[in-house]
Amino acid sequence: MRSIRDEYEFALRGAVRQVGLGIRQWGYSKQYELIEEAFDNPWSLEPFCRRLLKDVLTYARNRVPYYREIFQNTRIQNSIEPPPDLGSFPLLTKKEIRNHFRHLVSVDYKKMRRRLLSTSGSTGRPLQVVQDNVDIRWALAAEEYYYRHFVGIDHFRARKVLLRRDYMTPKGIRRLYSERIENTVMLGCLQLSKSRLERYLRVFNAYKPELIQGNASYLYAISRFLEKRGTLVSKPKAIVSMSEVLHDFMRETIERAFGAKVYDFYGTREAPSIAGECSQGLMHIFTYQNQVEALESLSSQGKELAITTLHNFSMPLIRYRIGDEAILGPRSCSCGCQLPTLKSIIGRTADYFLTKDGRLVHGFIFILMLRRNRSIESFKIIQEDYDRIRMLVVAETLDKRWTDLVDEKTRELMGINCKVVWELVDEIPESAGGKYSFASSMLYKG
Ligand SMILES: [Zn+2]
Repeated sequence: MRSIRDEYEFALRGAVRQVGLGIRQWGYSKQYELIEEAFDNPWSLEPFCRRLLKDVLTYARNRVPYYREIFQNTRIQNSIEPPPDLGSFPLLTKKEIRNHFRHLVSVDYKKMRRRLLSTSGSTGRPLQVVQDNVDIRWALAAEEYYYRHFVGIDHFRARKVLLRRDYMTPKGIRRLYSERIENTVMLGCLQLSKSRLERYLRVFNAYKPELIQGNASYLYAISRFLEKRGTLVSKPKAIVSMSEVLHDFMRETIERAFGAKVYDFYGTREAPSIAGECSQGLMHIFTYQNQVEALESLSSQGKELAITTLHNFSMPLIRYRIGDEAILGPRSCSCGCQLPTLKSIIGRTADYFLTKDGRLVHGFIFILMLRRNRSIESFKIIQEDYDRIRMLVVAETLDKRWTDLVDEKTRELMGINCKVVWELVDEIPESAGGKYSFASSMLYKG
């Protein structure tokens, strides 16, 4: 039984939580209302999105040096009015963002509340972009709308477990705030030993989350463990997979292990909310967040996506080749939502590597090590056996002292007998089956 003091603390914590969440939601309430209004009046959605596109293009032409020059040097000066024809606009690659970073940032950026973001680098090399406060508010509003109306959960108030990279899980007072006020437990998943997985199972059973959210590979690894070793005392209402490709075999295992539907959410650091899966299994594109174009692709699998961000005025990205391919979906969906659909994303991903003593080490740790070496243009890391990892590297030369350090770190992670085979190649061969993996294991399979 709770004492009066416990009751008092419990009530106080609840009140602080409500105030904290209320302030947070108030920050993007204007954007949320605009999205809600567009959904309530479906005829207004398209003109609303066109107006957003026109605004960002006009701003880019006037206040972003890189685009000012493009508008001046090409014949698209007048294409903003009437509806802009993006097809005549040049595509923007990651390489161009790196080379023209300063010119892609708005001349007004100092007046804006903004932050410098770095992409995760799971595609081999991280990319820096500036994101302003207004864009963050739109992303939060779009996410909340998605959870409420597509997943059917109030994700700010729901008890949730987030599976994250270890260095992204909060410590000390921030952890306390996350758990007590935001109702969120964060679990690091870059290395999964048996004892850690057992501890996580205890967390699930004690905390009984209504929502579990994480990278597809983390969810899949935990699901495989659950199927073998444990039982959940309480099923979550929903699971949201993000940041990585969710393959069908992963979805089946996760849904079976947790006894809940998996929703696939597609977003990146540069464009946080792009599309999300509905109850009918299609991914709807949030056209009020980004304009998404499907370009012809070399692979027969799908179409390459180009994204135009509609709210990040500190650094607008127009026709940005985000590096993912998608299979397009039908024009209409039986869930009743009018937004265009994608069947699935064929993006880039990384596997877990399996050690002889049964631990899982996420391939992203190796990606982090290799991407720190600036002389490496691109690479692919393959676990061929428990004790053998092949590093295919495109580079002029490799510093022996640096490769010795990577070898040592690899042995620490994988076991003292693990051998690293370095191979300099002209180019990285494409993976079969449309799965672009920068770190893959031949042992850890579904
Ligand atoms: Zn739908």
